[in-house]
Order: sequence, then C-alpha cells, then structure tokens
Amino acid sequence: MAFENLSEKLSAAFKRLRSKGKLNESDVKEAMREVRLALLEADVNYKVAKDFVAKVSERAVGNEVMESLTPAQMVIKIVNEELTALMGGGETRLNSPSSPPAVVLFCGLQGSGKTTHAAKLALMLKNQGHRPLLVACDVYRPAAIQQLQVLGSQAGVPVFEQGAGDPVKISREAVKHAKDYGNDFVLIDTAGRLQIDEALMDELRRIKEAVPPTDILLVVDAMTGQEAVNVAKSFHELLDITGVVLTKLDGDARGGAALSVRAVTGRPIKFAGIGEKLSDLEVFHPDRMASRILG
Ligand code: GDP
Repeated sequence: MAFENLSEKLSAAFKRLRSKGKLNESDVKEAMREVRLALLEADVNYKVAKDFVAKVSERAVGNEVMESLTPAQMVIKIVNEELTALMGGGETRLNSPSSPPAVVLFCGLQGSGKTTHAAKLALMLKNQGHRPLLVACDVYRPAAIQQLQVLGSQAGVPVFEQGAGDPVKISREAVKHAKDYGNDFVLIDTAGRLQIDEALMDELRRIKEAVPPTDILLVVDAMTGQEAVNVAKSFHELLDITGVVLTKLDGDARGGAALSVRAVTGRPIKFAGIGEKLSDLEVFHPDRMASRILG
C-alpha cells in the first residue's frame, strides 16, 4: 500500500511523543525533526517539508498545546489538519461550463495512465447520470486509439475518433458532435511523450485554444514521486492546468507526489487512481488521505 513507510515513521515519532506525558519545546522540536525526515524520505519536496514543519511547530509550541492534558494528541491533531491543508483542504470538483458540454483535456507523459483515467472518469460520470463522450486524440499510436475504444466499450461510453487525423480538428469536431448528440461531457485523451517536449506542448496549446477546455487535468504517476511533481510544475507553467489526477496510488508510492503537488503547483489533486480496473477511481479527499497517512 502507498505511504506505508511514511505512516510507520510518523506513528513511531508520535508514539515517543505520547510516552512523554507533559511536553516541553524541545520534545516538540525533536518530534518535528523526525516528521521532517519522514517526509523527506517519502520523497516530499524539500521546501514543502520545511514549510510544513515550520507551520506545525508554530502552532504546537503555543500554551494551549503545552498546557493541555493531552499535548501529544493535540500535536497529532495539528499535523493532521496541516497535512489536509497541504493537500488542498476540501475535495475539488470539475469546473462547470457556462453552457454544456464540459470539456476535459487529459494530458501527461506516456504511461502515466492518461487513457485509462479518461475512461475511468467517463464511467464515473456515466454512473452519475451524465452522457460523456470520449475523444481519441492520441493519433500517433494506432494502438492508443484502439485502447480507448476497448475501454470505452467496457465503460459503455461512446468514443469519437477520426484515425490518425489532426488532433486539433478532431477535438473541435468532437465538441460539435457532443452538442449535436447531447453529450454533456467531452473527455479528450491526448498523446503523451516519454518526456516533455516542445511539439507535445505546442499541440496541447493548440487544442486548448481550439476547444477551449473547462478542465485541463494532468495525469501523473504517484510511483514517480518528486519527478511527478516536477512534471506537474512544467506542465502547469506551459499550459495552466486546472488539476491533477494522481494515478497508481494502489502501488507502493512513497507519498511525495500526493503531498507536494498542490504546494508546488497551486493546483489541486482532483482524482486518484487506485487500480487497473475502470472502477478504480476516487474523488481525492485531502482529509481522508491525511487520516490514512496518520493511520
Ligand atoms: P497512458 O500512456 O498515459 O495513456 O497510460 P495508460 O492509461 O495506457 O496506462 C499505463 C499502464 O498503467 C496500464 O497498464 C494501466 O493499466 C496502468 N494503470 C493506469 N492507472 C493505474 C492505477 O491507478 N493503478 C495501477 N496499478 N495501474 C494503473
């Protein structure tokens, strides 16, 4: 399970804190040092870890905590609240269009889980009573179009494709098709690359201009830790994303991406992928994730 190591480290630090009964400033300082190390080991961005610990410390050394009957419990509560805040506070929904359809552009590096998550979101929306349309704009790999068709039929969601055409034109026509056929969500799967390159970004920018999307969701693989955060930062700078889909949280990701993405990019994680099945998608809840990390 993801975050196992981080959870263990934090729980050991808090166990020591609890065993002390009444706390003084140096007890808190020592615990915070352990928290910081645990975060760094979990591949959390250096500055994010530093700021996080500073925030918790500032709140924890106040009289209210030190003088309370259960000071360790209060420190843990503060950590929980700050972890939640770090990941964005509350859940964040998809943006609403001024008139339908909502257009969600999926982007990300190859292998991050883009195509799978476009289909997962389509299924989730369909189950909520919406009428999504999937759009195949990863035109460079015939297998990608076919993969989307297979996933679309598993989800019971139509797929708009024009083979290896121009992705900008395909996106535009897909939106028109959605309007004509009453689809209230258009989910566009785009090409990925092994690394960020100018051609990929240019194409995404042109699709963005042509459509324009209500959401640009960047799909990142949680297993890649801080690299996922670097990718998010670059995509955001070039494309102004509206949110992140964090995938493969069912694996043994260390947690760095989940904890740093929001602070580094200013954009929330909107969804989390927790498995290979189409139903393995969750709305991302920062508070639940914080509680899960704290065990
Ligand atoms: P794309 O190249 O970004 O479109 O990536 P794909 O959607 O093709 O996914 C790449 C691989 O990751 C596939 O084998 C997926 O089954 C797998 N995958 C995607 N999302 C998840 C997830 O949340 N958990 C797990 N375990 N595997 C996933």
